Amino acid sequence: MFSESMFSEVLFPLGIQVDEVQVDEEERIVVYLSGSEPTACCPYCRVQAKRINSRYRRHPADLSCLGYEVSLRLLVRRFFCANLNCPYATFAEQFPALLPSRSRRTSPEVEMPAACVDWMAEQG
Ligand SMILES: [Zn+2]
Repeated sequence: MFSESMFSEVLFPLGIQVDEVQVDEEERIVVYLSGSEPTACCPYCRVQAKRINSRYRRHPADLSCLGYEVSLRLLVRRFFCANLNCPYATFAEQFPALLPSRSRRTSPEVEMPAACVDWMAEQG
């Protein structure tokens, strides 16, 4: 019923890929997400970086979709800034279209219920 492609095609902004979709024992849909771009732009100096320092997960507040709870697990990469003159040695990639930094709430553009309903209608 639920698939990776459904979530990636319908729900998430560009630059975000769906790695895995699981349904846990409480019938909650767990969607694992990560950035799909190989590089990230330093938010301070705007230089593109590709060397990864570390990774961590952000857990935004759950959404709901047709009565199912949907739990997002966003893998965030921390990059080394490639600019030696930048005051920041590392920075975490940003997903402003999905999850504003320091927020647990997904952006209003991530309209889970409406997108799910559209997708179900397309599947017949
Ligand atoms: Zn920088």
